[in-house]
Amino acid sequence: MTQIEAARKGVITGEMEEAASSEGVSPEYVRKMIAEGKAVIPNNINRKARLVGIGQGLRTKVNASIGTSSDIIDVKAEVEKARAAEEAGADTLMELSVGGDLDAIRKEVLGSISLSVGSVPLYQAFKEAIEKYHDPNKLTEELLFDVLERQCSDGISFMAVHCGINRLTIERLNKQGYRYGGLVSRGGSYMVGWMMSNGKENPLYEKFDRVVEILKKYDCVLSLGNGLRAGAIHDSLDRAQVQELLINCELAEIGQDMGCQMMCEGPGHLPLDDIEANVKLQKRMSADAPFYVLGPLTTDIAAGYDHISAAIGAAEAARYGADLICYVTPAEHLALPNRDDVVEGVRAARIAAHVGDMVKLGKKGRDMDMSKARRDLKWDDQYRCGLFGERAGEIRASRSPAEPDTCTMCGSFCALDNVNVYFKESLGKGKKL
Ligand code: SF4
Repeated sequence: MTQIEAARKGVITGEMEEAASSEGVSPEYVRKMIAEGKAVIPNNINRKARLVGIGQGLRTKVNASIGTSSDIIDVKAEVEKARAAEEAGADTLMELSVGGDLDAIRKEVLGSISLSVGSVPLYQAFKEAIEKYHDPNKLTEELLFDVLERQCSDGISFMAVHCGINRLTIERLNKQGYRYGGLVSRGGSYMVGWMMSNGKENPLYEKFDRVVEILKKYDCVLSLGNGLRAGAIHDSLDRAQVQELLINCELAEIGQDMGCQMMCEGPGHLPLDDIEANVKLQKRMSADAPFYVLGPLTTDIAAGYDHISAAIGAAEAARYGADLICYVTPAEHLALPNRDDVVEGVRAARIAAHVGDMVKLGKKGRDMDMSKARRDLKWDDQYRCGLFGERAGEIRASRSPAEPDTCTMCGSFCALDNVNVYFKESLGKGKKL
């Protein structure tokens, strides 16, 4: 029985209890959200992972993606990146390798971390079609569904599957007649090529029932991929992207009714003033199915610092209801991320998720505790309250002050230290105005 099937029968599973325990919500709340299709727990009956809930009323989660490319195939480095992402505080990981022995790499990564792991099966399907037939467009339906089954069987907990790209979506793109940023989804671009070359409907759409049945068998979350997501802010919310989103929202409902946990994916690149509309559109059209956004990047000209551009967008998306945000690293658009890029990306996304949750969930208590610790110059408390206490401690220790209570920013001119002489008692007791 999948989580949504159990939830709809009124059963609280061990997975729901685990997801609730780290959230400060009741298991019954998690059950209700899953039953209504508003939350999911990435899970797999073949692998025990550290489970989190993703969805309404729950903390915004952060995903980190790793994986080899065709140019750089270093499995040890990918395992190290996966572990670094977990240590840096990622909630989930996507293993997106396209180079090397993909079955072996996936198993290695799954065995190295405790996070729930996601995948994009189209990468492996097209890679194997190229190896077997020397042409990605010769990919057969049987090979495609075999890859889905293989990845689920190995323990993948959520799978981004490009079901929403169909002939209607391509027709909309053709009629639209422009795309400033082209198609940036690897799986999406290959599937569009396959459909156009073969003159056939996308099997992941046409045989959606089969996709759902495979994932259901393992209690894996079906995340409806956004193959036509905008890869440039000027393509944000264009007709082709919205067409696919509309189809994905319809499919989310069908999948839920079949007993599968469902999630929808979104952009991509969005200017700041389009983010609210994008999130609300998805939420309204899918009856609040969990929304997974990639970034979104808020400007196209910050290469080298795209993790910051994306964190700005992710904070805004989380504020309006996005439930899972995929990190972006400083290497985005430039190179395969290394370990340091992964850590920076996770940290930036965690800040964004927290900033969004301060508004979405009213989670401001930790910030209040930090304010008081700063006012009272309690450094150990500050490190405890901070998202990155260890890093904060390292910076302070690297430039120690002469006055031990202060820091070297102002030294003996420390405003807090000076004022506390006069107001320590009253400032500590005052009520919020
Ligand atoms: S020295 Fe300046 S920056 Fe440092 S704690 Fe005091 S007021 Fe803050």
